[in-house]
Amino acid sequence: MKSKTIEGASGEYGHLDRRTFLTVTSAAIGLGVLGESLFGNLVYADALTKEQRDKMTPEEIITEMKRGNERFRKGERRARDFLKEQQQASAKGQYPAAVVLSCIESRAPAEVIMDLGIGDIFNAHVAGNIAKSDILGSMEFACKAAGAKVVLVMGHTACGAIKGAIDNVELGNLTGLLAKIKPAVKATSFKGERASKNAAFVDAVARKNVELTMAGIRNNSAVLKELASKGTIKIAGSMYDLETATVDFFA
Ligand SMILES: [Zn+2]
Repeated sequence: MKSKTIEGASGEYGHLDRRTFLTVTSAAIGLGVLGESLFGNLVYADALTKEQRDKMTPEEIITEMKRGNERFRKGERRARDFLKEQQQASAKGQYPAAVVLSCIESRAPAEVIMDLGIGDIFNAHVAGNIAKSDILGSMEFACKAAGAKVVLVMGHTACGAIKGAIDNVELGNLTGLLAKIKPAVKATSFKGERASKNAAFVDAVARKNVELTMAGIRNNSAVLKELASKGTIKIAGSMYDLETATVDFFA
């Protein structure tokens, strides 16, 4: 009898415990997903909350961007409810983890190629992904005021702006923009034909251009330089390969 009672009680409590456990487990999984939601591995992602973003390190954010690009390459992009992400982001404010500076290139949309959602990153686009004062100001807002932890400069292969700079193209306001890319053309050491028809040279210049942009961000933004030196943010570089769909992070 005693044993039965105990069993009964145990069974009852066991039942309750199981329910509690399931509830707790679900909650824990939920938090786990949310904790990595930028970026996590479960079926659905939601817009980042402030708490989720704040507990991630710059390195963790970059790792999740790499994972997202891996999912994209494998055709394993996560199912997303963009409307839900939009509504959540709108309701609670935005807490993006990074600011990405990339080219206006139509074939390299950052959220798509890194499998990110609404509210995950700030985006700055300009032909040739160069960082002059307005872009720097935008990045300073993103990091210092809004709490983003990664500044990612992303160049890409076969970039028309880079080719234009190599070819000394002149066209309206574009002339002045290309002039800002030309230092990268000069600074690129390359064995082979230094021409826009040489894809390898174009990509080498694009890579150098990302490096110079990263250096320019440090040199021309005291705000970002200070955040980077404290380890609050990381300034990172990358190249996107249009053919392989790979984002190659410099570090
Ligand atoms: Zn481009």
